[in-house]
Amino acid sequence: MTLTGSCMCGGITYAVEADTYLSALCHCTDCQKWTGGAFTSNAVVPRTSFKLTKGTPNTYDVVGNSGKVNKHSFCPTCGSGLYTELEVMPDNTVIKAGTLDGGEANLKGKIDIEFYVKDRPTYLAAVEGAKQEPMFG
Ligand SMILES: [Zn+2]
Ligand SMILES: [Zn+2]
Repeated sequence: MTLTGSCMCGGITYAVEADTYLSALCHCTDCQKWTGGAFTSNAVVPRTSFKLTKGTPNTYDVVGNSGKVNKHSFCPTCGSGLYTELEVMPDNTVIKAGTLDGGEANLKGKIDIEFYVKDRPTYLAAVEGAKQEPMFG
């Protein structure tokens, strides 16, 4: 299965060859600051399956609670956050699901896990059936 995605302006596109992926919400304060939203929704895919097909993102490195670097890739033109690469997950690319095309932002209607639920806004409920991790796990 090929998944495709793009930023808001279309300057950057990507493709992923993956039959399945882990779906994860992250409520950490870095995700909140980076997106301006309450949390990020993510499709975690093998890093080798992820290919940029147009454009070159800018990157911004943040040191996470792990002490390791979390690299954030975003469109230099429109600012869309596209994906992150975490030193603690060297074999994965963490796609920001809102950039997926064709309705895949819905993540097939299923969330596997929620991270940093300690920082989840109190107006949001836990997703039923999703593993709840206070921090990264
Ligand atoms: Zn863009
Ligand atoms: Zn996060």
